Amino acid sequence: MAKKYFIKTFGCQMNVYDSARMADSLASSGYASSDVPNNADIVVLNTCHIREKAAEKVYSELGRLRQLKAEKRETDGGRMLIAVAGCVAQAEGEEILARAPYVDIVLGPQTYHRLPALVEQVLRDDSGPAIDIDFPAEDKFDHLPEESAPQGVSAFLTIQEGCDRFCTFCVVPYTRGAEQSRPVEAIVAEARRLVASGSREITLLGQNVNAFHGLGPDGRDWGLGRLIRQLAEIDGLCRLRYTTSHPRDMDDELVEAHRDVPQLMPFLHLPVQSGSDRILAAMNRRHTAYEYRSLVDRLRQVRPDIALSSDFIVGFPGETNEDFAATLRLVNDIGYVQAYSFKYSARPGTPASAAEDHVPEEMRRDRLETLQQLLRVQQDAFNREQMGKTLSVLIEGEGREEGQLVGRSPFLHPVHFSGPKHRIGYVADIRIDEVLSNSLRGAIAEPTDATAVATQQSALV
Ligand code: SAM
Ligand code: SF4
Repeated sequence: MAKKYFIKTFGCQMNVYDSARMADSLASSGYASSDVPNNADIVVLNTCHIREKAAEKVYSELGRLRQLKAEKRETDGGRMLIAVAGCVAQAEGEEILARAPYVDIVLGPQTYHRLPALVEQVLRDDSGPAIDIDFPAEDKFDHLPEESAPQGVSAFLTIQEGCDRFCTFCVVPYTRGAEQSRPVEAIVAEARRLVASGSREITLLGQNVNAFHGLGPDGRDWGLGRLIRQLAEIDGLCRLRYTTSHPRDMDDELVEAHRDVPQLMPFLHLPVQSGSDRILAAMNRRHTAYEYRSLVDRLRQVRPDIALSSDFIVGFPGETNEDFAATLRLVNDIGYVQAYSFKYSARPGTPASAAEDHVPEEMRRDRLETLQQLLRVQQDAFNREQMGKTLSVLIEGEGREEGQLVGRSPFLHPVHFSGPKHRIGYVADIRIDEVLSNSLRGAIAEPTDATAVATQQSALV
């Protein structure tokens, strides 16, 4: 019987992608996937270090796994290896083994292609845990097997990793290392394989994805705008997205891609973090609130229906009531359709953690609540605006109810409607007739004239 692996992913979409690639490398070494950790021969936790809470979750999960590991040994005498991968592994290394000595493997985001070799080493040598958190000179992508399992209608593709921006609150430059872009040809080849395996939408990923500057086939560095134009040529690829972007790295070529490339969805996650220039400077974001507003104006000029999402941090050290009021003003002025907001969390080793003017917890909590209320009002208003509209929906799968399908609008709303299964993977026009708090419901729109019939048939058949 094949040995089994179970991977649990914490944190961002890049970790979701990395987990899929670790699964590929275990599969190519003969492991089969398991839906539960209980009977797995290796359990991998792919971890996140971005905020304290995220990092602490890993240790509570490890406590549960310790129990399962002991039970497995008692019931069938088998051995369950526990591996901690990802950013907590990178940041804490040996400390993990000190806190959880039953962990067998610790490996960082740049060394996970070595996972099968580390597993083999631990099983063969029986000389204790293996730790590999280098930033190796080799490119892990050259050492990973091709994707073995299809990702489905909507897929992730990492094009860039690491970050050189050093925002003063952020651990990413330390856990993921220096900014590195993959070559254009490798990305295009991976995108073609994804489309061949049934993916219709690709979200390009990077910690700072629009800093992308991969080597092009012409020997020059290509920016993200040019890469998007190239990917849009792939037959069968209906939708493109990218995340997460830094406002300073939105160049003209990328802004213009939003005007020229119909496959590029009119939804952009563009984190601003704060609306106060003083705080933006202390965060080392290297732009002002005015510059961010001007960028949004440019994007709206070229793509008037573009919907915006953002990240915010409240209670950054030194943030006053006036600074926070500036954030609320910016949110009011821009109008977001969705957003993530966090209380500042001091991270070891980052410059901001050494500040002396930390904002009290209660104040951070209150500000977060105020901001989230405002963002919720904006999100609800945007969702209500969809009532009665016809949205193009990429159908991703079956819904929970009998005969129901679910897909995503261009703005990432989940949309439920009735339809036959063979339409999964196609784009359909859906007329929205119900707005729920986190999703929309509708029905396949009746074509109103001959052109619509032709378009709908080509999209749906
Ligand atoms: N590269 C992206 C950018 O430039 O905005 C952000 C990537 S980070 C993985 C995701 C979000 O986590 C950030 O945008 C920020 O809002 C939040 N974050 C990062 N460090 C944080 C900290 N120390 N405390 C609270 N939130 C944090
Ligand atoms: Fe972190 Fe994003 Fe700043 Fe890079 S640009 S340091 S990933 S917040």
